[in-house]
Amino acid sequence: MKAVRFHRHGGPEVLRYEDAPDPVLSPGDVLVRVRGCALNHLDLWERRGLPKVKIALPHISGSDVAGEIVASAVPDVVPGRRVMLQPGISCGRCPACLSGRDNECPQYDVLGYRNHDGGYAELVRVPAQNLVSIPDDIDFTLAAAFPLTFLTAWHMLITRAHLKRGDDVLILAAGSGVGQAAIQIAFLHGARVFATAGSEEKLERARALGAYEVIHHHKQDIVEEIRRFTNRRGVDIVIEHVGEATWAKSVHALARGGRLVTCGATTGANGVIDLAVLFSRQLSILGSYMGTKGELLRAARAFFAGQLKPVIDCTFTLADAAAAHQRMEASGQFGKIVLDVP
Ligand SMILES: [Zn+2]
Repeated sequence: MKAVRFHRHGGPEVLRYEDAPDPVLSPGDVLVRVRGCALNHLDLWERRGLPKVKIALPHISGSDVAGEIVASAVPDVVPGRRVMLQPGISCGRCPACLSGRDNECPQYDVLGYRNHDGGYAELVRVPAQNLVSIPDDIDFTLAAAFPLTFLTAWHMLITRAHLKRGDDVLILAAGSGVGQAAIQIAFLHGARVFATAGSEEKLERARALGAYEVIHHHKQDIVEEIRRFTNRRGVDIVIEHVGEATWAKSVHALARGGRLVTCGATTGANGVIDLAVLFSRQLSILGSYMGTKGELLRAARAFFAGQLKPVIDCTFTLADAAAAHQRMEASGQFGKIVLDVP
């Protein structure tokens, strides 16, 4: 098959479009012909190399996949089905998995991350439990753009932060994958959404997705604006994934009893918090990583019903994966960048 692999860590130039061996199925696996694969920030971290994570080389990234089943080592899963893939891979047997918290599995991995080659390829191998059938009216590009960010945002808002109708929610970086998903999920659940972005065009698009008020994070102070919008109260929930650059502002934007939930630290992982503020204002700081298989199926129902729709920034061909990475690194995108695999 053709695949995009890297043989050493580095910039976008290490991505090579080349021949690679077809995946070999183990019992329980299914082979999927990839038709679309969306990028995530995780792909950039893998390519650059992470100090604490060993990735076997050469490596195929890609956690967000849609395509067609072409071969199966599972009797009741037949070729021909159109599917998108659940990006989280777990053992299915441990207490966490059997309690429906499979993203807490000790063996948890993400498709295209450490031990599983991903979707920057014509073919990908996944366990059958990772298949999610997609209706005929949803194309592969759109389906590929859905799983990881909507799953992440759903777990953050609904499961970790216990979003309730009427909550005020601040969502950082509206144009990011998690940002565009979180705005839609919070809006769908009856929250009043405030969103930040770094350009007027992105702010307009955030409004169109359901943001009630928007904040230009280069020109305006996030905390001041949130206080103004909420009559000095602050927000019930902050969706954080930016890290060091916004951490202190995110904490100070919270109302008493507020919940800050974070799934990433793009600008750095050192966040400082004033413990007196933490306890006296009864704040909750919550970590969130991916989400469960059940949550993805729940979110997918809203997707298939037209209540949630991934925003596509642009598409590239598989062979142009390096250009797609450059686009993502330039932070100009609004929504998901997808590799179309013909
Ligand atoms: Zn497990």
